[in-house]
Amino acid sequence: MWEARPPTYEDHMQKPLIIANWKCNPSTREQAEHLFGTIKRETKNINGVKIVICPPFVWLPSLNGLSLGAQDCFWEKDGAYTGEVSPKMLKDLGCDYVILGHSERRKYLKETDEMINKKIKTALKSDLTPILCIENISQLKKGTKDLLRKEQKKLIIAYEPVFAIGTGKPCTPEKAKEMKTAIKKIINKDISIIYGGSVNSQNAADYIKMAGFQGLLVGGASLNPAEFIKVVKNVARACPVVELRSLRDCAPKLF
Ligand code: PEP
Repeated sequence: MWEARPPTYEDHMQKPLIIANWKCNPSTREQAEHLFGTIKRETKNINGVKIVICPPFVWLPSLNGLSLGAQDCFWEKDGAYTGEVSPKMLKDLGCDYVILGHSERRKYLKETDEMINKKIKTALKSDLTPILCIENISQLKKGTKDLLRKEQKKLIIAYEPVFAIGTGKPCTPEKAKEMKTAIKKIINKDISIIYGGSVNSQNAADYIKMAGFQGLLVGGASLNPAEFIKVVKNVARACPVVELRSLRDCAPKLF
């Protein structure tokens, strides 16, 4: 599903983003189509939330009808770089978003802040919205080095404390909000900041309503369709943005 233009902070203020990071799952195209189809069918009448699915590269061409993102991209647009996938290729497959700097890539693939910074710049040139994952302010500063303020505004920052990723031990909304405030002091205020780390249907809405995040990055829970659909429904219910028009109305004290 193509988007007419890259999304803005204002869009995310109107509709919280729920981004599914499928990581290296599922193992077959049939399973990917089934998971995607179930989420699409069960959420089709929910207007107050924007869903983005980030499957492995290979399943991208088989999926359509919800916004798509990739889990990584390269920093060159083409050339002799065996195994790499460029932002331009992703755009051609219908992607509008790309996750960059995920802690698992930093850990297992030894991705550095410099590599991530180059990837962000190339992704922006291809009109992909980078979702920059960080766990601290140093990663934020290095990842966004040399970006103009108007370019910063096109990013989504995902605060993902490593202790919370895949552990079932989420950061509390109060602590996560402290980090959100710290990020806003460093970077363009009009930037969308989302939370990721052991999000489930019980805690999802708290990060939006209590901590003022513009959305969520959901790993493990996005592979369980019933649980992911509950996450979407609970966020939509907690922040009835269609009626209230914006998160400012939903949680005025946070802005
Ligand atoms: C992630 O990998 O980005 C993530 C947030 O994972 P989980 O929800 O499983 O903690």
